[in-house]
Amino acid sequence: MKGWVNNSSEGIHIEVEGKEETVRQFTRELSTQIPPRARVEILRFEDLEWFGFPTFEIRASVEEEGKYQLVSPDIATCADCQREIFNPRDRRYRYPFTNCTNCGPRFTIIEDIPYDRANTTMAKFQMCPQCRHEYEDPGNRRFHGQPNACPLCGPRLDLCDNQGHSLRVEDPLRSAIGLLRQGKILAIKGLGGFLLACDARDLAAVQKLRQRKYRPDKPFAVMLGNLKEAREHCLVTEEEEKLLLAPESPIVLLRWKAESSIARAVAPAQKYLGVMLPYTPLHHLLLRESEMALVMTSGNLSEEPIVRDNEEAFSRLGGIPDAFLIHDRDIYVQYDDSVTAVVGGNPAILRRARGYAPFPVGLPFSLKPILACGAELKNTFCLTRDRYAFISQHIGDMENLETLNYFQRTVDLYQKIFRIQPEAVAYDLHPEYLSTKYGRSLSGAKIGVQHHFAHMASCLAENGEKDPVIGIIFDGLGLGTDGNFWGGEFLVGDFGSFFRKAHFEYLPMPGGAAAIRNPWRMALGYVYSLLGEERLARHLSIFARVEEEKIRIIFQQIDRGVNSPLTSSCGRLFDGISALLGLCPSVSYEGQAAVELEMIADEKEGGTFPFFLEESEGKEIIRLRPLIEGILGDIEGGRSPSIISAKFHNTLVKIGVDTCRKICRQGGPKKVVLSGGVFQNRLLSEGMKAGLERAGFEVLVHCRVPANDGGLSLGQAVIANFIAR
Ligand code: ZN
Ligand code: ZN
Ligand code: FE
Repeated sequence: MKGWVNNSSEGIHIEVEGKEETVRQFTRELSTQIPPRARVEILRFEDLEWFGFPTFEIRASVEEEGKYQLVSPDIATCADCQREIFNPRDRRYRYPFTNCTNCGPRFTIIEDIPYDRANTTMAKFQMCPQCRHEYEDPGNRRFHGQPNACPLCGPRLDLCDNQGHSLRVEDPLRSAIGLLRQGKILAIKGLGGFLLACDARDLAAVQKLRQRKYRPDKPFAVMLGNLKEAREHCLVTEEEEKLLLAPESPIVLLRWKAESSIARAVAPAQKYLGVMLPYTPLHHLLLRESEMALVMTSGNLSEEPIVRDNEEAFSRLGGIPDAFLIHDRDIYVQYDDSVTAVVGGNPAILRRARGYAPFPVGLPFSLKPILACGAELKNTFCLTRDRYAFISQHIGDMENLETLNYFQRTVDLYQKIFRIQPEAVAYDLHPEYLSTKYGRSLSGAKIGVQHHFAHMASCLAENGEKDPVIGIIFDGLGLGTDGNFWGGEFLVGDFGSFFRKAHFEYLPMPGGAAAIRNPWRMALGYVYSLLGEERLARHLSIFARVEEEKIRIIFQQIDRGVNSPLTSSCGRLFDGISALLGLCPSVSYEGQAAVELEMIADEKEGGTFPFFLEESEGKEIIRLRPLIEGILGDIEGGRSPSIISAKFHNTLVKIGVDTCRKICRQGGPKKVVLSGGVFQNRLLSEGMKAGLERAGFEVLVHCRVPANDGGLSLGQAVIANFIAR
């Protein structure tokens, strides 16, 4: 066949001429005979006049006004490249920046489309003749591999002291491993940003990292050399194995074996350990040559964005690592490692970043160009165009200027590379969220979307479901349309509207934000407002560490409704129960009390606590007095926290099933979606799904976007699209 092919900002254009049968065969095989990581989204064919091309040629890339193409996420090192870096006779032996068209950096180095070397941070490296030859040879694995490089012409490693001064060592990798072996902390520049690493078996090193990073309890992830090592420390199911080995190479939460030699301080109070396998040549070399298990956690200060530039690392991370292992390939946009788990046999994404973004979620309908700004915690934004929802990578908690800057910069980048000019902007109803303030400051139509409505729509959208459903939204906090904080909701609706059919009864959050950091306040509030001061008096031992004066003030706050907002949050209920059982009177990271409550649950226990539904103004109110009473009774009776936790989980499932049955009897739908941060709890989400299915409901859950606030922007965007019509 004769003709030409080129790469454009719209995609690939091919014109071919030849015998009719050959051209037919070509069009048939076009979508199947493709490189491993290629993905055909749409194929469009057109008959053209005979031109009489003399040859077949690859033409230069072109930019077409307003047109866009999908951009690939970064891809874990392929098997061929792995073989090369471990082969002493290969010219890329031990070269940490080896890649090919089937693997390597993509999104993190792209400044604009079309995806050509000149539009990436590799532009500054001139290919040597051998690399150039590979790049231009259509039969080579590196044909048009934009980040192609070798030890002669590509990026290089350097090892610096804790001030950022080069140590001028001969073999930076080997010296870095030496430091890790001595229990030192290293900042390692990776694919999406800097990671902080230390020996995961060395308790002192792990504790030192926790101290320096101001992160006392929140679990760290570890990187293990290969699947065999993962099995030494964790149970790995078939589904989990697939995730670990996937080209996205995410962190996978695995059941952590008791006999594992990894320090428990890596993930205190957890039964799961976040494990990832090496995903760059640098990691492969590091893990293979050190034979270590390494803690690998985002290089940032507490909740700031992950650090991307060398200079930025020296200034912002200064004081955490003992040394920096850096290189000179720039990261244009940073992203964190993604976090996944297998829930009920299906993969679920808890943090969507490296390997997944900026690949869009495909929708079964076309959308207007909309920017949805997400929420406050675990923020992502979403830009829509055609049938695509481009959900950003995990941006982080929008509580500081650094994160807001990262948010704005990433919004600009997505708008640029996907050529999207939003006509409308959607945001959460909470006026104090930085994302809301940002959205309101933009021009164009503005749409405030209720938080839990957005959660429901997010799950509907990724499942392509347009019919009305019951949405069980168990969440932390989100501002409701009545000014209270919602979070234990049963909504009925679709993309266009919702009705709040049932919710947990409103209870006080004594001290507001202080109650989030101190679950004992929630516990005190539950017992005091549901059972009264007298009943509480018998259980004051639980609050023994709290001064009497403080307790009296809380009573007053609740009685007078001062600084004691009302909430129906299921997340706060978890916090309160956790504190009642003495697990987490105070927390150091979001969700800690709820997670620790889940972790201790005895999965064999089948009992429940009582509760009841009460109708009020057309809604079902889920009354919790008997539940709290039952828990206090169990505590008095000396039952173990493991049993009580399990019974609490079972009760929530029963609440879900009973409430859906009631809504259904009143003419509600038979389909249920589960969303909200509380459903990251595996025990609860697996139990709820099974319970509802046994009761005859069809259940939709999250898979490609997080159930937590990281998935919220998708729901906001889809709702805005329907409302803005
Ligand atoms: Zn490769
Ligand atoms: Zn080269
Ligand atoms: Fe939420």
